[in-house]
Amino acid sequence: MPRLLLIEDDLAIRTPLIRALRERGHAVAAASTAMTGLRDALDDRPDLVVLDLGLPDLDGRELVRMLRAVSSVPVIVATARDDETEIVRLLDAGADDYLVKPFTAAQLDARIRAVLRRAAGDAGTEDAALVVGGLRVDPRSRQVSLDGVPVELTPREFDLLHHLAGRPGQVVSKRELLTEVWRIPYGGADKTVDVHLSWLRRKLGESAQQPRYLHTVRGVGVRLEAPGTAR
Ligand code: CA
Repeated sequence: MPRLLLIEDDLAIRTPLIRALRERGHAVAAASTAMTGLRDALDDRPDLVVLDLGLPDLDGRELVRMLRAVSSVPVIVATARDDETEIVRLLDAGADDYLVKPFTAAQLDARIRAVLRRAAGDAGTEDAALVVGGLRVDPRSRQVSLDGVPVELTPREFDLLHHLAGRPGQVVSKRELLTEVWRIPYGGADKTVDVHLSWLRRKLGESAQQPRYLHTVRGVGVRLEAPGTAR
């Protein structure tokens, strides 16, 4: 049974929503302030958080950021305002989906199931070994080999390579790498990524000038692909 945490200060919304979600087969815990919600999310490790943006003690977007910095729990945001700029900001801050109030329990339930399915899909593929050309990245043993020869990487180098190998041929921005690999939700220095990329390149026996797998796309990010891949 999925365990949900509902962070909502309005009793008139919270009580019926809890009941409706329980009737739909979810285990539901609730918090009425951002700070208790944040604590519950960390202590109880729910499968998903439903977050009301209009909370008394903290801006909802700030809470999404704080949550994202310490947890990968999926977050659905409930907002009273149908404001596209605000919604984009929320998704950028790390929310997985949103609903504009008023919404029905059935609508929320559909979003919850979709987000949980997506999260389960991500977790399922995280375990499989990734193969790109002669490169093999195995997240279970955290071992990497290149043309059958083991490559020793630091934990951070491994995470960086694993993230890129999961998206072969795709340009990944430094910002995404800072968020996904370093877990720095905003800000952070591009230089950190550059330094680790250069270490990674050296261990894979290549350089920025003569890339084989790791290709810098100037001003955008980096792309990993097998040598000789036609573009
Ligand atoms: Ca509220």
